[in-house]
Amino acid sequence: MQDNEDAPVTHAKVVVVGAGPAGSATALHLAQLGIDDVVIVDLHDFPRDKTCGSGLSPRAITTLQELKIWDSIEPLTYPITDLRIVTRDGHEALVSAGEKAAAAICLRRDLDFEIHERSLEAGVKFLPGFAASEPIVRGDRWIGIKARDGREVRAEWVVVANGAHSTLSTATGPKRMIHAIMGWWEGVDYRPHTVEMIWDDLTLPYYGWLFPETETRVNIGITYQDDHKLKNARRIFRAFLAKHYRDRLEGATQLGKWKGHPIVYSYRLGHLWTPGRVVVGEAGRMTHPATGEGIYQGMRSGMFAAEAIHDVLAGRAREREALERYARRCAATFLPSFWAGGLARGMLRTPFLDMMVQAGSMPRLRDATARMLAHL
Ligand SMILES: Cc1cc2nc3c(=O)[nH]c(=O)nc-3n(C[C@H](O)[C@H](O)[C@H](O)COP(=O)(O)OP(=O)(O)OC[C@H]3O[C@@H](n4cnc5c(N)ncnc54)[C@H](O)[C@@H]3O)c2cc1C
Repeated sequence: MQDNEDAPVTHAKVVVVGAGPAGSATALHLAQLGIDDVVIVDLHDFPRDKTCGSGLSPRAITTLQELKIWDSIEPLTYPITDLRIVTRDGHEALVSAGEKAAAAICLRRDLDFEIHERSLEAGVKFLPGFAASEPIVRGDRWIGIKARDGREVRAEWVVVANGAHSTLSTATGPKRMIHAIMGWWEGVDYRPHTVEMIWDDLTLPYYGWLFPETETRVNIGITYQDDHKLKNARRIFRAFLAKHYRDRLEGATQLGKWKGHPIVYSYRLGHLWTPGRVVVGEAGRMTHPATGEGIYQGMRSGMFAAEAIHDVLAGRAREREALERYARRCAATFLPSFWAGGLARGMLRTPFLDMMVQAGSMPRLRDATARMLAHL
């Protein structure tokens, strides 16, 4: 790292590191709560891409509504009403939520830019190209963040929201990872407003997917387990595509290259804060262990963190009390579904899903199973 004594120092009440869904939701909500001195920093300028299926679950949509930004995001989305499931033995089920869209796909380039822009409109200040490298510490308290180029932001709180590869997180110990690789295509035949989830021996206990992003463009990907880093992602993906999408990809145009990225998850959230530091989103390993969903958890934990900091600034709670409550709210909100996800992952290695989907004579049971899987 280069130490640059002339590098500027910015002062703020709160500095948020990382402007993905978790960081931008934190910054936006802080501003909505009346905290007017918030700075957000990111490696990149916006708009920028992020490797992601871009699926917004019903609870992610509710969170965007609570943040009062769904009205400007909804026109950018592709609505999803139906789910096609394929089991490892090739049995299929189609579950419909009816006319009303249950979920949505929103390109991360658009989603992240929109939340970010709304936060700037609410008064948040943005420093792009800021590669946060180390905390500024006084005693045991974080009092700011330093960039690789020597710039500093000094603040009463540092919110760590810099995603899967964070080295600023309180989360320590070996990372549990879901591995993923995906690509984008134009001209693939698909059932309108339908996402596809395919369980296959190639990917178990995880799945492959097709998510329609627009009227003409889809993303297809796989998640898989590779704890010992022995697998070849491209080889598994090629085999998956050949098995499930060969006919439909004939004549389609691939857009860009395949991209791989891990999803970091945990069944325990541990300590999500230390004096002056709060960790939100995937930096705190808050993603779903079975589905890999992380946008909702990022935004929701960001809202909880903003409310905790607001409580301290408003004199309603001391820092320890407010941040312990923050950690408890995250645990109570996410852990039951993370544990259910762990159970489901185990069951998906058995004939459970096949039995349920085959139970055509029991349509309610079949639908309940499909819904459970979609909402895990
Ligand atoms: C292939 C794949 C498919 C997925 N599909 C879905 C899906 O369909 N639905 C869903 O809900 N979730 C999905 N996820 C998970 C989801 O993408 C993440 O969990 C989510 O983006 C986490 O949000 P975040 O804000 O915590 O982190 P991120 O979105 O990763 O944002 C972190 C931000 O921090 C910035 N940053 C990183 N390091 C630094 C640094 N040192 N200094 C400054 N800034 C920094 C980055 O530039 C980035 O803008 C998927 C993930 C993958 C890999």
